[in-house]
Amino acid sequence: MINIPKGTKDVLPGSSYKWQYIEETARNVARAFNLSEIRTPTFEYTELFKRGVGESTDVVNKEMYTFEDKGGRSITLKPEGTAGAARLFIENGLASSPMPVKTFYITPAFRYERPQAGRLREFHQFGIEVFGSGSYQTDAEVIFAASAFLDKLGVRVKLEINSIGCKVCRAEYNKALKKYFEPNLSKMCEACRSRFEKNPLRILDCKEEGCKKFTAEAPSITDYLCGECSRHFDGVKSLLDNQGLKYIVNPRIVRGLDYYSRTVFEFVSDEIGAQGTVCGGGRYDGLIAELGGSSLPAIGFAAGIERLMLLMENTGIKFPERQKVRIYIAGMDEKTRDKAFEIATALRLKGISAEIDHLNRSIKAQFKYADKLGAEYVAVIGENELLSGELKIKNMSDGTQTAVKIGQIESYLK
Ligand code: ATP
Ligand code: MG
Repeated sequence: MINIPKGTKDVLPGSSYKWQYIEETARNVARAFNLSEIRTPTFEYTELFKRGVGESTDVVNKEMYTFEDKGGRSITLKPEGTAGAARLFIENGLASSPMPVKTFYITPAFRYERPQAGRLREFHQFGIEVFGSGSYQTDAEVIFAASAFLDKLGVRVKLEINSIGCKVCRAEYNKALKKYFEPNLSKMCEACRSRFEKNPLRILDCKEEGCKKFTAEAPSITDYLCGECSRHFDGVKSLLDNQGLKYIVNPRIVRGLDYYSRTVFEFVSDEIGAQGTVCGGGRYDGLIAELGGSSLPAIGFAAGIERLMLLMENTGIKFPERQKVRIYIAGMDEKTRDKAFEIATALRLKGISAEIDHLNRSIKAQFKYADKLGAEYVAVIGENELLSGELKIKNMSDGTQTAVKIGQIESYLK
């Protein structure tokens, strides 16, 4: 027997409805916020992620599935959705359409990580990316879209926001961080020592216990924001306040990508263990230019679908039941089974879910089977029914029976 690869999961026929429910909820929210779906390839040239996610991130340093294809090109399975979305935006000239360009996606993503609850090697994200607006209203809108999605699913999460400023104020802040970390640098992990040189801010995102004790006391970015970044952040907060969306400002949130600027945010749960962030996002005003496009602001988020599902299951949130079989039609012998097939097919072509026996079961066994399928109605075809062209349709929930002409079954069920 060959097993499933480590860190991946099957979706079984009995639980795919949970996926469909979460995806449908995502699509409905996207519609309400006027976001259009985009789809990008599962793999891209490695360079896109190196530049788009950033060389100082764990994702690029340790987690990418990278290989050479037969043509000698370096290819990487997408570890996240933003870089591909930005490439799509630039490559297809979307900068010349009316701004902003508001998009969403539902995609698998691949990261070589140590698998554990809420951390997989193939996982799925619902993400949105809005290109071409730098206004704080857009930040608030994107945060509200994430919040609406999580709300609709019924999960309880906390919203944490921060601003990591622009190039100007971050330069000042990075200086302060370097000054603060320098005396203890030798006691910090290797990754942090390299972050110290490349992007000190990212030290705040380190998951090593040894480094966390130093980051706790580090200076706060909020004390270093320039006037414009401060006003932008105030604007976001006031819109959230006005709409009654609760949040806390957490100056330690810096997010995974290197090209974030200004607003960053996470929706966090304390009910799924260490991997508590179900949704993370932020503004990335530097990315489009970094990838060779014009200098355009952008903002987005990605929510991890597996983590959300885990949270929903752990907290006993009910998924709506999956669609049941409307009617089960039982035959007894070859002729009546053929008739059952004919009736079921006609109903199916009208979009009514109908089922029949495929394994020559007895009538008794078929009733049991229909019950297992959750069939709402069952009809048996015998010699008499063939002759009369009329079936007795049994309502399985109250046991009542109704005689219905074969041609009338569709309207009876509607
Ligand atoms: P973490 O700090 O948990 O590693 P991250 O900062 O790497 O998260 P992002 O790159 O921001 O995560 O991805 C957005 C969301 O995707 C996360 O909030 C999480 O819900 C989900 N996610 C990220 N990595 C994984 C993974 N390996 N398995 C399952 N879900 C994941
Ligand atoms: Mg990670």
